[in-house]
Amino acid sequence: MSRLEEKKISGPGDGRVIYIPPMEPWGTRFFAAVFRSIGYDARSLTEDASTLALGLKNTGGGECVPCPSTTGSLLAAMERDQVPPERVIFFMPTACGPCRFGQYAQLDAMIFERKGWKGIRIMSPTAENAYEGIDTGTRIKLYHAMMVSDIMRKLTHRTRPYEIDKGSVDFTVENYTRDIEAAFSAGNLDEVGILVEAASRELAVLPKFKAPRPLVGVVGEIYVRSDPFLNHDVCRRIEELGGEAWLAPMGEWLFYTSHLQTLLAKEQRSGLRGLLRRARTWLETRLFFNRIERMYYELAADVLHDRHEHPIKDVIAEGGKFLPWQFEGEAILTLGRAALFVKRDGAKAVVNASPMFCMPGTVTSSIFPAMEKDLKAPIICNFYDGSGNPNQSLVPVMHYLAEPYRAEQARERREVESHSSRLVSRKLDSRLLYSSPG
Ligand code: SF4
Repeated sequence: MSRLEEKKISGPGDGRVIYIPPMEPWGTRFFAAVFRSIGYDARSLTEDASTLALGLKNTGGGECVPCPSTTGSLLAAMERDQVPPERVIFFMPTACGPCRFGQYAQLDAMIFERKGWKGIRIMSPTAENAYEGIDTGTRIKLYHAMMVSDIMRKLTHRTRPYEIDKGSVDFTVENYTRDIEAAFSAGNLDEVGILVEAASRELAVLPKFKAPRPLVGVVGEIYVRSDPFLNHDVCRRIEELGGEAWLAPMGEWLFYTSHLQTLLAKEQRSGLRGLLRRARTWLETRLFFNRIERMYYELAADVLHDRHEHPIKDVIAEGGKFLPWQFEGEAILTLGRAALFVKRDGAKAVVNASPMFCMPGTVTSSIFPAMEKDLKAPIICNFYDGSGNPNQSLVPVMHYLAEPYRAEQARERREVESHSSRLVSRKLDSRLLYSSPG
């Protein structure tokens, strides 16, 4: 097999085109911007029904949907951009463990080989060593990019359900997203921080409804839960049905893989080596990951003061009541975060979003009925494969959950409407008063 891996990621990229999979709207764009800052011609991939169809045509048909979706979006972009394979790098992280994610890059390499593309490269950093293959400077920037994606998404989800002027939140967020992308491309992290703070301030003062809505936590497989195309925009659907969504962040996976190193070192290595490994992970987490996370939450405090994440050890402790941590992978995070959404964050329901036939998704959806009884909150397990309308399952649950809030929302809406019509007629009156006759 002619698989070439870009194991060491360091600039400059010699003008090669690196394509970033379309996993999450902000993350994809910010990751591409970081790679541009170190000399790559980095482009974020997009997806739609046609790219998914292309992916399905080139894969076996039994893969979980992120696999054909990422492959199809790459093939479509190469066709559209007319980039020769030997100039292309496909960014496809990998992982060990029981689920299929570790095989995506392998399958992509086989597809490229079948096409006779000898020079195409796959950049495959791995979670196994907490992405140590990426050089430190780039790793730091990518970590910032991931955190800021989580923050921008949370800013959107925290404010959009309450906006009075339809579209004002999306419009504001998109303007700042473009500026933040430019700041990442320029490698200017100070500017990124300034823009995050400005975005939060501006969103906090947009006209908004005050009547509360039921909070719905969204957990599950990281790709599908984060990807509005594949999950049929589940968070927006929750908003349309009268709720507010809180999506588990992408950063959770990074904190998990880092914490896992500590747990494994504790279990597998005794003596000085084990101690040093644990000390290193502890320092890295406390001094780096946690510090940067805290910084961005402080910058976005005007909106996100009540939307902080819990320490990863708490998530694992909750999930660990149902699965041992040695059962590595996403399942324990899905279970633990769902429990914390209800117990600590006041969520009235949880949506568990997984690709069809997802291995951790199948495990969690078999455990959730028992947890649902403990938590006394509905947990909706939705499986997605790019077809049908899986979010229809939310309609009856959201109808029941939103009911107690409707009277107050309607009263406030009437007040806002009569206030704006009074303003309009006052403006008209003053125009008539000051306009010259004839
Ligand atoms: S977590 Fe699920 S969807 Fe993701 S690779 Fe594993 S089995 Fe597939």
